[in-house]
Amino acid sequence: MSGRTRRVVLERPFETEGSAVPGAEPRASLPPPRDAARPRSVQDEIWLPLDPLRPRQLAHVVALWRGPESRRECLAIGVRPAPAPAEDDGCGERAILDVLRIDDRSVALCDGPGGLDAFTMRPWQGMARPVRSAFTVLVDLETGEIERDPSREPDPDGAAWLARELDGELLDHVHRTVVAPRGLDPDRRASVESLRGWSPGHLLRYSAVYPDSRREAFRFGGRTYRVGESHCPIALCPCHALVLDVVDMDGAPLPEYVGAVRLAPPSASVEITAERERSDDLLLEILDRFRDRYPGLGRLVERRRRVAVMGSLLVERYSGGALLARAPRQRK
Ligand SMILES: [Zn+2]
Repeated sequence: MSGRTRRVVLERPFETEGSAVPGAEPRASLPPPRDAARPRSVQDEIWLPLDPLRPRQLAHVVALWRGPESRRECLAIGVRPAPAPAEDDGCGERAILDVLRIDDRSVALCDGPGGLDAFTMRPWQGMARPVRSAFTVLVDLETGEIERDPSREPDPDGAAWLARELDGELLDHVHRTVVAPRGLDPDRRASVESLRGWSPGHLLRYSAVYPDSRREAFRFGGRTYRVGESHCPIALCPCHALVLDVVDMDGAPLPEYVGAVRLAPPSASVEITAERERSDDLLLEILDRFRDRYPGLGRLVERRRRVAVMGSLLVERYSGGALLARAPRQRK
């Protein structure tokens, strides 16, 4: 990197308390995603028992809860893949979310041939609870931006609520659901051979280790910034290095590299390397938004752990395992 580097201490330290991702479902409990290419039949009904005391339920259908215990409100969401974008329209992976606004009188959701329905505790009546409103939105799964479907009745409050809920955890979940029918799996690890160009001392990019993972981007000031995430892959290394590199996708004539932020969580001291004049503030702004998307350190710790598994395999295969016992010294 040719840019100028300076060290900055973040005003907001990393929160290590409760850094496990809140509300995350264990993987094993997720029902298999529906095959979108297959016509749906009665057998394709998928039910989710509702639990109003949880902040969110992430399954094949999604339930997001808010409000006091006496009256919990819910956004019930069915997830559909959006039509594949044209190759160069600048948009990332997208999903269509069918949203019902219900409350804690509903006890179950059913996603079936007739669409998404909510049911109360009176099964002999067999009726769907009337919902307060229903709307459909198109979401860019890289930026988390919502594009309203103009053909539906607007619900500004519901859409605003949904927009606030679209953090990294929910975007990752929706992404996993929509890419599964295409045979993509964000947990599929690249082959060790495909990364044999890596050598000790270098970081590994998360998207190189997990090629089907969701790409991260942030949109503000009319521009889209795509963020790559690289981790130190040596399990025993004390450097904790994590580099976020940023590309301005609206650069002309081509996407333009903005610079990188080097972190060593949980240290609040970061290194900024800006390629352009006056990009330091931009990089700090993107780091801030990145941290809002993933509060706490849970995701970063988990992703470094996953990269380190690949690091161990690479070292074992190509360095005779020598680095497993001798980690690089911590960088100052
Ligand atoms: Zn390291």
